[in-house]
Amino acid sequence: MCRHMAYLGPPASLAELLLEPEHGLLEQSYAPRDMRGGGTINADGFGVGWYSDGAVRRYRSARPMWTDASFAEFAGGVRSGAVLGAARSATVGMPVVETACAPFTDGIWLFSHNGRIAGWPESAAKQAARLDVVDLLTLDAPTDSALLWALLRQRLGAGADPAGAVAELVGEIAAAAPDSRLNLLLTDGTRLIATTWTHALWVRRGAGAVTAASEPFGGGGWTEIDDRRLVVADRDGVRVTALVEGDR
Ligand code: GLN
Repeated sequence: MCRHMAYLGPPASLAELLLEPEHGLLEQSYAPRDMRGGGTINADGFGVGWYSDGAVRRYRSARPMWTDASFAEFAGGVRSGAVLGAARSATVGMPVVETACAPFTDGIWLFSHNGRIAGWPESAAKQAARLDVVDLLTLDAPTDSALLWALLRQRLGAGADPAGAVAELVGEIAAAAPDSRLNLLLTDGTRLIATTWTHALWVRRGAGAVTAASEPFGGGGWTEIDDRRLVVADRDGVRVTALVEGDR
């Protein structure tokens, strides 16, 4: 299953965050250590989103991350204090195209999904029916992750509670398609919101920084997040709550 990470903190280069660390996203793309739920490597493309001068920038490619020499060339020169990266292992039956790679974006948001909707696409049809036809026409790709993003971004309007929207979406999809794997990761550049739903997630806090990642990298200080949790973090703190009432 795909690997993803998000960082909020003092500005750092994309190379420092993704390429250079021991077991960073680059290494996780070809030698992941904890691929629960299938897949051996994350070779079906990758993507990185970051914030610069208040705007979202994004680079995606359908190539394996380790073969993209041009990304490696510019990654050292791009610095940001808010970055979301993902390396993709396409779910069987889903297309290997650039537009299926996270992060998905709209306005200030960057989004990634690690997992799959069980029984796709039939199981998700009811959820899809809740979308305006225009939203369906603007799906980045015919994949479960792109559908999740369309469902979520509809709920991120002004005044919305993004953490509540993420938790609600996971609950709805898990009910409509049990056995789904729903590790979501969302940021607006100032806070990050993540879920664990049958995949791994680790969080590290540093001086004015927070990182969430499918697998720990670049030294210690990581805490593993239990399953079925909602993580809401910013540069000053991390809050972890149960997604399912009754879970401890
Ligand atoms: N199901 C999603 C896709 O194909 C995410 C895959 C993953 O987490 N491995 O693209």
